[in-house]
Amino acid sequence: MVARVIPVSPFDLVLFGATGDLALRKVLPALAHRFADGQMPKGARIIGAARSEMDSDTFRAMVGKALADTPNPAPPARRKAFLARLDYVTLDARGDAGWQVLRDQLRGDVIRAFYFSVAPGLFEPLAERLDRWALVTPDTRVVVEKPFGHDLDSAQALNTMLARHFTEAQIYRIDHYLGKETVQNLMAVRFANILFEPLWNARFIDHVQITVAESGGVGGRGAYYDGAGAMRDMVQNHLMQLLCLTAMEPPHRFDADAMRDEKLKVIRALDPVAPDRVVRGQYGAGESGPSLLDELGNPGSDTESYIALKVGISNWRWKGTPFYLRTGKRLAARVSEIAVTFRDPPHSIFGENARWRENVLVIRLQPDEGMDLRVMIKEPGPGGMRLKDVALDMSFAEALGDDTPIPDAYERLIMDVIRGNQTLFMRGDEVEAAWAWTDPVIAAWAQAGKRPLAYAPGTAGPDAAAALLKRDGRRWREVK
Ligand code: NAP
Repeated sequence: MVARVIPVSPFDLVLFGATGDLALRKVLPALAHRFADGQMPKGARIIGAARSEMDSDTFRAMVGKALADTPNPAPPARRKAFLARLDYVTLDARGDAGWQVLRDQLRGDVIRAFYFSVAPGLFEPLAERLDRWALVTPDTRVVVEKPFGHDLDSAQALNTMLARHFTEAQIYRIDHYLGKETVQNLMAVRFANILFEPLWNARFIDHVQITVAESGGVGGRGAYYDGAGAMRDMVQNHLMQLLCLTAMEPPHRFDADAMRDEKLKVIRALDPVAPDRVVRGQYGAGESGPSLLDELGNPGSDTESYIALKVGISNWRWKGTPFYLRTGKRLAARVSEIAVTFRDPPHSIFGENARWRENVLVIRLQPDEGMDLRVMIKEPGPGGMRLKDVALDMSFAEALGDDTPIPDAYERLIMDVIRGNQTLFMRGDEVEAAWAWTDPVIAAWAQAGKRPLAYAPGTAGPDAAAALLKRDGRRWREVK
């Protein structure tokens, strides 16, 4: 799939939290793949940093094992060569230990990237120490993982803190959804084809469904998840980004500020969501595992593992076309998609009895990334003009005729950091606008005293979510 690999400039990437889950499962494997594809020049180095005492060889062995455990690992020889690019520094984000060693390791004439793959409570101590130890050069970038705050106040405080140490052009707030090939394809489909854009508005689109369904539960993330829930963990960032890319006006260029300006306008045009347009749920126990409350270890928790919302956008393009968003854990399948349902033709020349199905454009993010357009055709055979809807279904992997796995979102995003391209990262004002919309939705349901509804694992979520669409004469697409 990756036909052209353009090497990036030499860099020192310092990965704080290098021994943690995200670093070992996502960030380092992504870097290994980019290395294996020849994208990293000779002068590219990765320095892991965490408190655990170990030397670079032990760290390399740890990473080597993690790489071998990932799906589609790079060939062994390439992995070995990649490991040679790694070093490790024992360092405490909250203390002074290790910082001089790190300073001595960094080169002055290459790009520097500091990746904060640590708990959010460490962002400030890290930023302060980077500043204090004079490690921030003009060619420095910092990558900040999610969650970016848990409400507007905390996000603003985080932005203010980061602005004390870095310029906005140096800050890369990751939402890995933006790095997914299919999400970028959404922009290509919309803005590189004349076909869809004239129809892309409330006049021709009946509604949009954005689904991010997970089959797994909260697992070991209970401590973080309790109090966050699906609204903060998924809707405020990932689903919001998908909504923005679906709804935004064409930017004048595919560049960072043009894109982010347009996304920001969408967020600012979102209507407040009243509690009767929100359904929240908690999964019960089942064959797949314990209930949410048991996993959280908090029988009285009000945290939702499922949420569905009906969202309106008050602007000329979208007024009157609802966007239905839903996301949840322990659902029937792991599927992420954006489904755009078009309106019926204004008049049926085939008579009253012709059975219409709407045209639906589905952009599948996972599994089997691709696109599917449901169109009406004539059912073959004699016996009059009967209509049938069929799929113009395209799997990107098949269509591109290549078995190379689609690169993981982190691969693209980390290389963009090195290139200095912020297009697929969130700007500070965008994150704050997303929280400014999210906070009142949460406050309204809290005030209404609405507790989450129970749902059985392996289903599509609470029945009330189906009712949310049914009362508008619509149905959710099946989660399968
Ligand atoms: P984790 O497994 O708990 O790893 C935390 C890392 O931070 C470890 O390497 C730990 O190593 C290091 N650390 C802790 N205290 C430190 C200190 N005082 N100084 C220096 N290093 C310290 O966490 P994670 O799951 O990788 O998550 C990291 C960040 O990514 C979090 O902000 C999380 O919200 C975000 N995130 C994670 C995922 C995921 O799938 N895991 C997904 C999206 C976002 P030592 O104990 O050796 O110091």
